[in-house]
Amino acid sequence: MPARHGADVLHRLREHPAEIWHRGEKVKDVTTHPGFKNGVHSLAALYDLQWEHPQEMLFTSPDTGDKVGRSCMIPHTKDELKSVTRMMKRWADFSMGMMGRSPDYLNRAMSAYAGGADFLGEQDPRFAENVRRYHQHIRENDLCLTHTLIHPQANRGTGVANQADPFLGARVKEERDDGIVIRGARMLATLPAADEIMVFPSTLLTSNPDDAPYAFGFAIPCATHGLKFLCRETVDYGRSVYDHPLSARFEEQDAVVLFDDVFVPWERVFLYRDVDRCNRAYAATGAVMHMSHQVVVKNIAKTEFLLGLASLMVDAIGVEKFQHIHEKVADIWVTLESLKAFLRAAEEDAALDAYGVMRPAWNPLDAARNFFPKTYGRLVQIIQQLGASGLVSMPTEADVTGPLADDIKRYFQSARAEAHERIPLFRLAWDASLSAFATRQVLYEYYFFGDPVRMSSALFNAHDRKPYMDTVREFLARAKDEAQAPDPHKGEESLIETSMRI
Ligand SMILES: Cc1cc2nc3c(=O)[nH]c(=O)nc-3n(C[C@H](O)[C@H](O)[C@H](O)COP(=O)(O)OP(=O)(O)OC[C@H]3O[C@@H](n4cnc5c(N)ncnc54)[C@H](O)[C@@H]3O)c2cc1C
Repeated sequence: MPARHGADVLHRLREHPAEIWHRGEKVKDVTTHPGFKNGVHSLAALYDLQWEHPQEMLFTSPDTGDKVGRSCMIPHTKDELKSVTRMMKRWADFSMGMMGRSPDYLNRAMSAYAGGADFLGEQDPRFAENVRRYHQHIRENDLCLTHTLIHPQANRGTGVANQADPFLGARVKEERDDGIVIRGARMLATLPAADEIMVFPSTLLTSNPDDAPYAFGFAIPCATHGLKFLCRETVDYGRSVYDHPLSARFEEQDAVVLFDDVFVPWERVFLYRDVDRCNRAYAATGAVMHMSHQVVVKNIAKTEFLLGLASLMVDAIGVEKFQHIHEKVADIWVTLESLKAFLRAAEEDAALDAYGVMRPAWNPLDAARNFFPKTYGRLVQIIQQLGASGLVSMPTEADVTGPLADDIKRYFQSARAEAHERIPLFRLAWDASLSAFATRQVLYEYYFFGDPVRMSSALFNAHDRKPYMDTVREFLARAKDEAQAPDPHKGEESLIETSMRI
């Protein structure tokens, strides 16, 4: 089947409703529910965008010859990798980087798993076949995935196997001839209104045999019997895009995933009970590199948006002469150029991996994934500091069209913007920096790719710093040698001193 249009996406979600719960109610139809419909329609719009830019966003399926989504491409050359970048940027720009779960994020993961399928096949050749077939399935049907990796936050002082209830974290309850049965919970899955869910390992398991029942990787339809998504309260309050320009468009939702004896057929299992393989899977297959590639492209779009927003705010209220304003806008610019440099390095230093897949270089991507979570909150704070009280004194659409319209026109003008220009701009700044949507974005950027604290430790332990230590050792030795060597200028100094005294 060729790539989908938005209408196909909505149709499928209506035809295959997952069990999604929101504020105590089962959501009948995510395409019409007030808390979901806007985000779901934005998701659908991404699919229409593919057909508006088919050259850039689609490619010819190696199996069927159909035009399919480029987000599912397994790149073999740098040019192909860069073509994926351009495709991802187009999607990221659509939401100003606010849709972290545009489908390319997990399509890149599954493409990497399929490319590196042999790694999974080392445990059982069927797992390699399964993942290749699954990748083909999502590519040919142009499906959208969510995923869940981590165990519930009950007692982080001990591992998942040692929680008070052994079925708190999702685990294998039963192994059958035709598949496995899963019981327990996982947290968290952004975009529960997806077609399928990847349930993969993330938090490192120990070699303790008790951890084996928690070690698996599989993917199933979201509309699978016994699978439930318990959502947080929506941040889309059903207001107009004038009032809530981001919240009313890009609410993706986050949900805890409950497995109430969910059956997973063997053909959908890719990793099973092999703790060590689960722990190594993301790196060995290249999935973490290809996902990070998508993330840095999305973050470039997000930072470009913040740079444009900040610049318009500065211009509107005429604060461009103040030095600290320059510094703040410069900080956003430096962030943007840093991300672009990381991306370029990741593309230029990309190399074929052991499976013949063009893998973006890890070092710049690892730097990017450690850099941005700690930077994004600061960028949002800059928007707050530029806007100041302007962010909390913006009239709503009802005010602008209500009895006080003339007052608003008069009192909300600014240096270089009439009220009708300034108000939407500052409402956008509010939704990017202060609203529930905005603060959820800050939490998202800080955590969604993993705990930055533990990512720093991973970086500390993984990267070779010996060459730099050697450089310093050599310098210290050089300084010592120089100190011990006879001074060829000895005597000159006293001569100079003497001559000066004369
Ligand atoms: C908005 C949002 C969306 C997300 N979407 C998804 C998704 O779609 N799919 C998915 O799988 N996950 C998702 N996540 C989850 C994300 O992977 C986790 O938030 C992240 O891995 C951190 O885990 P945690 O939230 O359980 O924090 P915890 O592990 O509970 O940590 C809580 C605090 O304790 C500290 N801490 C805990 N253990 C340690 C340790 N061993 N060493 C040092 N410090 C420790 C942490 O640093 C932190 O300060 C999302 C998270 C957010 C916030």
